[in-house]
Amino acid sequence: MSTGQVHVVGAGLAGLAAAVALAAEGRPVQLHEAARHAGGRCRSYLDAELGCRIDNGNHLLLSGNDAAVSYLKCIGALDTIADPGEAVFSFIDVSSGERWTVAPNRGPLPWWILRPNRRVPRSRARDYLAPLTLRRADPSATVAEVLGREQRLFRRLWEPLAVAALNTGAVQGSARLFWQILAQTLGRGGAACRPLMPRAGLSETFVEPALARLRAYGAEIRFGARLRALKFGPHAVSQLEFDTGSIPLDRGDALILAVPGAVAARLVPALTVPDAYAPIVNAHFRCLASPSEPTFIGVINGAAEWIFRKPEALSVTVSAAERLVDRPADELRDLLWQDVALAYRLPAFPVPPARIVKERRATFLATPAQLLRRPKLSTRWENLLLAGDYVDTGLPATIEGAIGSGFAAAQHVIGVGAPDGSPCRSPRRDASETTTGRQRALT
Ligand SMILES: Cc1cc2nc3c(=O)[nH]c(=O)nc-3n(C[C@H](O)[C@H](O)[C@H](O)COP(=O)(O)OP(=O)(O)OC[C@H]3O[C@@H](n4cnc5c(N)ncnc54)[C@H](O)[C@@H]3O)c2cc1C
Repeated sequence: MSTGQVHVVGAGLAGLAAAVALAAEGRPVQLHEAARHAGGRCRSYLDAELGCRIDNGNHLLLSGNDAAVSYLKCIGALDTIADPGEAVFSFIDVSSGERWTVAPNRGPLPWWILRPNRRVPRSRARDYLAPLTLRRADPSATVAEVLGREQRLFRRLWEPLAVAALNTGAVQGSARLFWQILAQTLGRGGAACRPLMPRAGLSETFVEPALARLRAYGAEIRFGARLRALKFGPHAVSQLEFDTGSIPLDRGDALILAVPGAVAARLVPALTVPDAYAPIVNAHFRCLASPSEPTFIGVINGAAEWIFRKPEALSVTVSAAERLVDRPADELRDLLWQDVALAYRLPAFPVPPARIVKERRATFLATPAQLLRRPKLSTRWENLLLAGDYVDTGLPATIEGAIGSGFAAAQHVIGVGAPDGSPCRSPRRDASETTTGRQRALT
């Protein structure tokens, strides 16, 4: 527990979550971010050429992502999310044109698997029990090893879900980690699997409201502040060295390092972090689909994997995209549009204007070997904590993992959780008020 100034370095979701939770508890917070904007790998921006705002990558959140939902409550952004009210997942097999929906019932007792119209065509109820074996899988086992590639539902359900959740192919992805995701969502019933999507964009939901809350609390936010080095004493970090100058840490001050794992490993001696990554390719097509079409569709046997209907675009995500990431943008545009046109019943030609976004190091590779490299949140320096999706959260590199780690680091600094058990209390005043941030948080 610390009592002084808390420095949070990195304004991705982990850093924002930590900063918001601390500021809400009345702690003086300084948030330092190298870029000129916050959000890290989860943000939106105006694509001038395409003429609309796009997300750096489509992000799917589920209602069972408790930390993320709690964060949205903390920053007052729940109303920026579209909640369909039920868990319905549409799929198309582009090799046959066959369409179906998977629709888990609300409660934890999965009676939906007994209803053919709620499950994958030609599957049997018992096929849906196969993932229970993931729970007791050997830590070194992969999804494909445990579920079996010949399993009836492998290609049509488990593999697409595993790849989306782990950003790692099922042949390499950790079985145990996939289980964690299933247990948090599908295992709790449809109520925990409702897909939640930002109405406008990622920044409007996850980033801008958090910055507004922090400003309202009086937290100091410094953009263009790249941490270059740390100075260490025998037991504690003694100084932060930015391009723009140094900041000494006094007794009682704390540092939450919420930068990507590779950056943390350069700043902290002998820190082991995941060192293999998986790419994600996104394609944003400037076109409109009928509002009667699903808000997103899973694609089987295609080049695209998930297609999202956005206000001004149709956006494709391909996770674990090693097979696509080196192909030229024009080629990817034509290839992916064929699946989009089929899925959303649009003409195959002409291909609409598109932006291809390749994130080569989107997340760490979720193999059993890489999981062993994830560090704990606390370090051997008493005032230094780590936060970020690469930290050992028990979850893959996701919004939920990043936010959960930010909250955990904040709680560690505070010493206890908020009295109501949530990671941060609801702010009691809003941005329009004029008292100082410290007063606001304490009143
Ligand atoms: C294309 C794509 C699609 C994704 N899809 C999904 C999805 O559907 N669902 C899901 O849950 N997750 C998804 N993710 C993963 C999710 O975006 C990440 O897990 C999460 O955003 C990571 O947050 P973070 O705060 O840990 O790290 P980051 O977002 O990387 O934040 C780190 C911050 O630190 C800053 N920084 C770096 N170095 C320094 C320095 N020296 N000094 C100061 N600041 C520094 C960076 O600029 C950045 O702002 C996706 C990711 C990508 C890239």
